[in-house]
Amino acid sequence: MGPGGFVTGGVITLGGAGMTRRVAVIGGGLAGITAALRCADADCQVTLFEARPQLGGLTHSFSRGELRIDNGQHVFLRCCTSYLALLDRLGVTDRVEMQPRLAIPIRTPGADQPVWLRRNGLPAPLHLSQSLMRYRPLSLLERLRFALAAVALRRVDPASPATDEQNFGTWLRRHGQSANAIASLWELVGVATLNSRADRASLSLAATVFQEGLLTEATAADIGWSKVPLRELHGDPALDCLTAAGAQVRTSAAVRQLEAGDEWQVITDDDDTAADQVIVAVPPPAAENLLPPGSVPMPEGWSRRLGSSPIVNVHVVLDRPVLDQPFIAGVDTPAQWVFDRTSHSGLTSGQYLAVSLSAADDYVDTPTAALREKFLPELAALLPKMRAARVRDFFVTRERHATFRPAPGTAALRPASTTATPGLFLAGAYTATGWPATMEGAVRSGEAAASALLKLSGDSTIPSRCLRPRHEQSRVVRIAAYGASRNRHNVPPKKTKQILYADTTHNYSVASA
Ligand SMILES: Cc1cc2nc3c(=O)[nH]c(=O)nc-3n(C[C@H](O)[C@H](O)[C@H](O)COP(=O)(O)OP(=O)(O)OC[C@H]3O[C@@H](n4cnc5c(N)ncnc54)[C@H](O)[C@@H]3O)c2cc1C
Repeated sequence: MGPGGFVTGGVITLGGAGMTRRVAVIGGGLAGITAALRCADADCQVTLFEARPQLGGLTHSFSRGELRIDNGQHVFLRCCTSYLALLDRLGVTDRVEMQPRLAIPIRTPGADQPVWLRRNGLPAPLHLSQSLMRYRPLSLLERLRFALAAVALRRVDPASPATDEQNFGTWLRRHGQSANAIASLWELVGVATLNSRADRASLSLAATVFQEGLLTEATAADIGWSKVPLRELHGDPALDCLTAAGAQVRTSAAVRQLEAGDEWQVITDDDDTAADQVIVAVPPPAAENLLPPGSVPMPEGWSRRLGSSPIVNVHVVLDRPVLDQPFIAGVDTPAQWVFDRTSHSGLTSGQYLAVSLSAADDYVDTPTAALREKFLPELAALLPKMRAARVRDFFVTRERHATFRPAPGTAALRPASTTATPGLFLAGAYTATGWPATMEGAVRSGEAAASALLKLSGDSTIPSRCLRPRHEQSRVVRIAAYGASRNRHNVPPKKTKQILYADTTHNYSVASA
């Protein structure tokens, strides 16, 4: 018998009293962590498989000498309610800092003082009006036109497929936005949140970001960030919480193959694990390789068409403090956002800055020495104190597949959390959350997959054949069972699907100069 299951007229009914449903979650990023925790909290018997030695996925940390370094600076907004709820569940809300009120110091090369983008006490969208009226990088006419376009963007329907086909940059120009307004204000927020330039971004995703963050609720865009390395915020606490909730966490356990039948077999290099339901929370190419054909209503190669967009971080350790705010944003400079990472990293003297470069297609293959030559003068132009500072260390982290590419037409390539294959669910920031690839999107996707699984499980039944332990079944029986199951669901017969685990550590590199 399946663990804790009960037999009713030859079937094991899941969702009955005393039942323990076996749930396999594949992928230990924020999406998988959220899904696994939700299922464990609902008394499922959860096994989480993660290919890397630690949890956290794209939010991870490593050591460089004495320092703890993140793979890339991460921030969130007050409107990221699902992400904040996950932090609460992990018991780590005291490890993040949240601005009491949105305040972004914006620096331009050569200027001694920053221009501030701050919210006042008025409701949205008036909360930014004072700052915008004084926003020096834009002419007075550009500021007025910005306000009119913001009002128009508020009315755009992000859920409409026609909106998703449109290009954000074209829409901005049609609404009177100059090249300067796009570069100095729209992209200041848009590039970091969408991981794309306006001309390559879907209007739907851009509208979601601006409506959720800036145009609907005054407090929504207050910025938050971790006070500790990301691994201490997500990966390690998640391991503790999942274990305490009764889940089994298997790290360094890449799932090579998923075998569907009357029960699922999750196959790693070491063993096979049986499960009643599976949540696949791996990046898109790995998911497409893993899913039985026909699971998602998309043509073969959908993950390649969805594509990915890189983020590069330039890390600079200095012999003295040069930045007196937690972060600045840059205008008229390639240094998009600069963060003070000193206390997070454990540095005890001097200052450690991370320059975050989103939509970094132009930098992801640039040698570290060339990035050093480019960015040190840029930082000196933004931060006057930098000119007298000595650089103690300089290195670069590159995430080639940081997010999916949020191009027009992307919505049609983002699968839902439910699939056509019974018992199989999807999670991941790339799934159809409506959000761009963010921590909030990842957590929402994990919640959606777990909710769908728990809801559907309430009335689902599986044949009693799966009472037989798998080791008693021959491989032929397993394949036949899988074929029978596929026929029941009008899916073309196929034995198993090999997953080629895309070792993300190979796509991620650190280089010094
Ligand atoms: C440098 C950088 C900066 C970013 N900045 C921000 C930011 O400021 N704000 C924000 O909100 N978002 C930011 N993001 C995006 C955010 O990190 C991601 O959207 C989110 O973490 C994705 O989570 P996920 O669980 O969907 O996917 P992932 O984190 O990719 O998790 C998938 C997991 O599956 C595992 N896996 C893959 N194949 C297998 C297999 N076969 N078997 C088992 N496990 C497997 C992987 O190892 C990985 O751990 C940034 C991302 C990067 C890279």
